[in-house]
Amino acid sequence: MRYVLLHHVIGGLDEHKGAWGYVFGGMGAVSQAIADCAKSHGAEIRTEQNVEEILLDGGVAKGVRLANGKELHSKVVLANTTPHVTFKDLLPENSLPHEFLRAVGEIDYTSPVTKINVAVKELPNFSCRPTEGNNPSPHHQTTIHMNCESMQLVHQGVLDYRNGEYSKKPVIEMTIPSSVDRTIVEQDGHHVVLLFTQYTPFHLNSGAWTEEKKKEYATHVFSEIDAYAPNFSKSIVGYDILTPPDIQETFGITGGNIFHGSMGLDQLYFNRPISKYSNYSTPIKGLFLCGSGAHPGGGVTGAPGRLGAMRALRNLPTNIDIRQFSLSECCLKNKAGKHKATVNRSQLLTYEMAQKPHHIGVRKSWLTWHSQNLEEFRQQQPVALAQDEVVRRFIRGFFPQNVVVSGNELVIKRRGNLLIVAGFLQYSRRLDIRRIYWMYGFAEEFLSLLLKQPVKLELSFVENEDAIAYNYI
Ligand SMILES: Cc1cc2nc3c(=O)[nH]c(=O)nc-3n(C[C@H](O)[C@H](O)[C@H](O)COP(=O)(O)OP(=O)(O)OC[C@H]3O[C@@H](n4cnc5c(N)ncnc54)[C@H](O)[C@@H]3O)c2cc1C
Repeated sequence: MRYVLLHHVIGGLDEHKGAWGYVFGGMGAVSQAIADCAKSHGAEIRTEQNVEEILLDGGVAKGVRLANGKELHSKVVLANTTPHVTFKDLLPENSLPHEFLRAVGEIDYTSPVTKINVAVKELPNFSCRPTEGNNPSPHHQTTIHMNCESMQLVHQGVLDYRNGEYSKKPVIEMTIPSSVDRTIVEQDGHHVVLLFTQYTPFHLNSGAWTEEKKKEYATHVFSEIDAYAPNFSKSIVGYDILTPPDIQETFGITGGNIFHGSMGLDQLYFNRPISKYSNYSTPIKGLFLCGSGAHPGGGVTGAPGRLGAMRALRNLPTNIDIRQFSLSECCLKNKAGKHKATVNRSQLLTYEMAQKPHHIGVRKSWLTWHSQNLEEFRQQQPVALAQDEVVRRFIRGFFPQNVVVSGNELVIKRRGNLLIVAGFLQYSRRLDIRRIYWMYGFAEEFLSLLLKQPVKLELSFVENEDAIAYNYI
């Protein structure tokens, strides 16, 4: 639970730490954008095709068989179905070691989430912040939490859940994407209100989640919202409810667990999905995981997909230059930069280990000073320009005695995912070639991590300012 809270605030948006965002056109626009990009690179996409079985040939994955009987053959198979579905439902029996299947069987897929998507004819008018008319106010555009004013309230909700009942005081997370994006509603004044509610057990003590039970729960949630925004129930024109069994059935997600497996500390990092198989590979050669059941888990991040694809690419004879896509591959190149190249010394060095303390002090304060007040700059400039400024300031701060003119002459180029910093630095007697080599590696790696994309330095060293003119000519 605690980790999930952390997971939710780990990221950020537009330099606001922990912030989430709305996607214009609804969440489907993300998949559509990825699909369009893939198609532009020659991918063929088939939707509404149920995979019935992953085909094996001598224990090696060679494709899939669809529910309509059609077979698709391939060199590798990447599965973003949950590990349970992938290993227990889609592979032929006896194709996996018993121990492995046992570990898969122990993955925790319990989930307390019921999603209710509501269409309303007017915005909820909250008693604590009443609004005139039907125009969205800033608070309508944020995430609105209800029934979690105290830990005691939340705890009581969990106890109901543990007793096999839905929470009498469900924790409700409300978002209103139409308050930001009018493309997702047709009628003026109408809105889409999304309710992420907890805690609802997969199996109720009183029986199954029948239509009546779902209606009862939805009505209960709406009445709870009425306590905060009295016009809410009256404003509803329709809704759609997805209990944990509905989520399982609709999306094929085991247990209805939105993360393809709980994200407790025992099911993260090297234990996701199970220990010894956290690197997207499986006991079946040619079969890889690429869904949120794998590291780093659920959420619309694309991270498990990207990392799974990188892993699979390594197994393919390919002419794709992985370095163009991979941050870690780019950093691998820089490994040399981590070894301070003094004689008889090849120990991995951190920045702190390699520098004298007073150098670190000076450089860090220089960097801090010169990266302040970026917010103002950022507001006036497009993102790429602001990013260029960050890079220039970093290089100026990192090589303070070597910047030839003012640092503004550094050229920032972008090639695909790769960011290239080109320009000239001035020799200094204090910076010998070994140190330069190391600093290059460090600067590239640091910038790659900071910007979350591979960064390459193409900096040449010149004697002085005059030599730049000579070199340019
Ligand atoms: C109700 C709900 C609310 C969520 N809210 C948020 C949120 O606010 N923010 C956030 O970041 N994340 C949220 N998530 C989590 C996020 O949606 C997932 O982590 C993410 O979509 C996982 O992506 P994926 O590619 O790993 O798997 P999925 O998006 O689950 O994709 C798996 C796909 O496999 C398909 N499939 C299953 N079985 C088969 C089969 N046999 N043959 C063919 N296809 C099959 C499914 O239909 C599905 O399309 C939410 C999830 C749910 C369910």
